[in-house]
Amino acid sequence: MPSYPDTQLLIDGTWGPAKGGRTIPVLDPATEEQIGTVAWAGTEDLDAALAAADRGFRTWAAVSAFERSKMMRKAADLLRARADDIAVMMTREQGKPVAQSKVEVMGAADTIDWFAEEARRTYGQIIPARAPGVTQMTVKLPVGPVAAFTPWNFPINQVVRKLSAALAAGCSIIVKAPEETPASPAEMIRCFVDAGVPAGVIGLVYGVPAEISEYLIKHPVIRKVTFTGSTPVGKLLASMAGQHMKRATMELGGHAPVIVTADADIDAAIATMATHKFRNAGQVCVSPTRFLIEDAVADRFIDGFTEAAKAIKVGPGMDADSMMGPLANDRRIPALEGLINDAVDHGARLTTGGKRIGNKGWFFEPTVLADVPVKAKIMNDEPFGPVAVINRFTSLDEAIAEANRLPFGLAAYGWTGSAEAADRMAYEVEAGMTTINHLGLALPEVPFGGIKDSGYGTEGGSEAIEAYLDTRFVTRAR
Ligand code: NAD
Repeated sequence: MPSYPDTQLLIDGTWGPAKGGRTIPVLDPATEEQIGTVAWAGTEDLDAALAAADRGFRTWAAVSAFERSKMMRKAADLLRARADDIAVMMTREQGKPVAQSKVEVMGAADTIDWFAEEARRTYGQIIPARAPGVTQMTVKLPVGPVAAFTPWNFPINQVVRKLSAALAAGCSIIVKAPEETPASPAEMIRCFVDAGVPAGVIGLVYGVPAEISEYLIKHPVIRKVTFTGSTPVGKLLASMAGQHMKRATMELGGHAPVIVTADADIDAAIATMATHKFRNAGQVCVSPTRFLIEDAVADRFIDGFTEAAKAIKVGPGMDADSMMGPLANDRRIPALEGLINDAVDHGARLTTGGKRIGNKGWFFEPTVLADVPVKAKIMNDEPFGPVAVINRFTSLDEAIAEANRLPFGLAAYGWTGSAEAADRMAYEVEAGMTTINHLGLALPEVPFGGIKDSGYGTEGGSEAIEAYLDTRFVTRAR
């Protein structure tokens, strides 16, 4: 097994400790033991990272899109070659089974390739002029140095979407990656450095998230802010970005509805949604959460889903037969217990799970709650853990109204045999991403993002690079 590294800062092309020498411990969620440390950046480090990003932007914007694209592809190849070691690192710091970590690393390489291709297609337009001899055109230019803030649930995936889009557009970027899971994103970034991306183009810092975001967002060098995390933090950072007139992309929380009509393929819905629900122990912003099942098939769905949850083998992510690892941090345990107990107090039926497993490592039982009143907290707050809530409906109007009741609008799922119901789910359920009768989210080439309180902007598909480009207009007379 590769040893777990102490993670350093990357500033101006050099890996090193924080100037103040401070570090933060990194724990293994399966054992609660310290496995390493991560450098804790102070203001001096941030100033150095900002100055480097300023220089790095000018260097990188002057590199042709063709060359940027080639370097990015090389980084993707290096990442693929190092995927096995990086996946193990990710599992040790984050907890998910190694097979899931490997999928994340390989998916990141695909994302880099996608944006490398996009780099060469940042086309402007020629706009027909009113006067003879006038040429009117738009050009797309990189917005400038970017500050990116990313969470611990997908340590690499959350960084790579921002990093690849920024680099493809010609921006420099300072990444504030997650302190709980620092090594795997650092190793992913090392692939870009090793592929030849010049000094200053990518900065990597860790520390106290609120201190770093406040310092970077306000700083005049930074022109664009991008964040993935909870809605309350996103609102705070978006308002700070607004005050300083910085462009922002916000990928925030969700509470995804799953509508299943009686004519759906129920077995496929159970199998697909149960695997998806308990992936990464439910610590996924698009995790299916509020299941809404048509009355006629509700008992069958609840029974089948409960059996599927019971069949999930929970254990250390390093064990080959573990299907679900521990939670990534201990604060989710009381949070989940609170939500589950509150639901039961409101009259919900706990059909399986509900508790922490053992007292070493942050393992939690795959949990199913049925017939949960909407007043219960879990019907309103994102559980962000391995808990499914299953309720019933009698008409599709009722199910769509429940799906849209919350301020979130990230992912939505539908299972139905009816074309009309599928159309209604597609157009009437308020979600940034809807997947019907299969699981089809989060590929690099399709949009990824929310609406309403789940944020704005997309981190996938052909629109994603636009968030890192300014459209400028030029008109010229002969
Ligand atoms: P949290 O709200 O404290 O933190 C969420 C993330 O935001 C973390 O990565 C944290 O480092 C970062 N963060 C917090 N305050 C910040 C600030 N002022 N500036 C910059 N970054 C800041 O919650 P948590 O306990 O870490 O996670 C639980 C909640 O976070 C979940 O309920 C979920 O809603 C949300 N979350 C969402 C995602 C996602 O993929 N959208 C990922 C992780 C966490």
